Amino acid sequence: PLVLGIETSCDETGVGIVRGRTLLANAIASSMDEHARFGGVIPEIAARAHLESMTSTIERALADAGVELHELDAIAVTGGPGLAGALMVGVSAAKALAVSLDKPLYAVNHLVGHVGADVLQGEGLREAVGAVGELELPTIALLVSGGHTSLLLVRDLVGDVELLGETIDDAAGEAFDKVARLLGLPYPGGPHIDRVAADGDPNAIRFPRGLTLPKYLEKHRYDFSFSGLKTSVARWVEQRSAAGEEIPVADVAASFREAVVDVLLTKALAACRDFEVPRLLLGGGVVANARLREEATERAAAAGVELRVPPLSLCTDNGAMIASLGAQLVMSGHSPSSLGFSADSTLPVTDIQLP
Ligand code: ATP
Ligand code: MG
Ligand code: FE
Repeated sequence: PLVLGIETSCDETGVGIVRGRTLLANAIASSMDEHARFGGVIPEIAARAHLESMTSTIERALADAGVELHELDAIAVTGGPGLAGALMVGVSAAKALAVSLDKPLYAVNHLVGHVGADVLQGEGLREAVGAVGELELPTIALLVSGGHTSLLLVRDLVGDVELLGETIDDAAGEAFDKVARLLGLPYPGGPHIDRVAADGDPNAIRFPRGLTLPKYLEKHRYDFSFSGLKTSVARWVEQRSAAGEEIPVADVAASFREAVVDVLLTKALAACRDFEVPRLLLGGGVVANARLREEATERAAAAGVELRVPPLSLCTDNGAMIASLGAQLVMSGHSPSSLGFSADSTLPVTDIQLP
């Protein structure tokens, strides 16, 4: 089926078009530049920016795919979770398209959409790491972005997704952004930490690995915590500053990055082992992290786990992943969502589709 997917859960206006598993277009407009001076995404600005870019982004996707609206078989849209106002713009646009074209509408879960990106194949997916195309299931999925840090057990992309654990405080990307700020680096901080860390010693400072001590492993085996790490970096920097010492920014960045990557991969690979699932896929903007990609490749190989990392354009928020999940729902015979649904900003990951 030819499916157009709309994503507006955060700051990216994404419109993607897929035919089954084949990626045809992935148009993106981002309002990140408008948020940068505030040091974080401002919901009202994001919603207004979605409104302004929606029509042109849809047109761009159609042109890129060489497709006309009437040819579409279905519309898919992110129904949640995400910023309420931002979601509402995408949902309204999708409903308008579905009604005016008389096409079925599938409102899908953003997080499961990140996994949906992994089943795509086609031109432009060459920078992917590991396998592309059809998913071998079950698989463990680690989603790491500015808003989420979630570990999932996916038994069926359109039927059975289990949340094993998630962050109990800050998301991994948020931790990158906060630590960057206290090191005087611009927002969003992830890429800057990555760049600066390249010249640093990852073992210079031993920062804490959240929720990895044995006493936490029973209740929080697959959960994450990054706020203690951030505080620990802040203290370390404050103490050196107070003593009039120069801050070794590269070493701090490299040591911080190492702590995040270590925890993410330790827990993800523990899940692979515990559930005897030799497959791990990664998604979310933090997957851009050079050290995470490198360590994931090494540790997965050592553990005999097959690693899948989609190209970056499909890791950060995008419409193609939503179109892909929509196409999977169509292909497996699921009914469309009712046109009466509302965006759900706190939609749990187990709800793959809104009724
Ligand atoms: P959501 O959580 O809803 O998916 P988001 O917009 O917060 O939305 P993404 O766009 O997927 O998430 O990712 C942005 C996050 O990724 C930011 O926190 C950013 O700092 C982080 N990030 C980007 N590049 C890197 C990198 N090289 N290393 C670490 N973090 C990075
Ligand atoms: Mg984003
Ligand atoms: Fe996302």
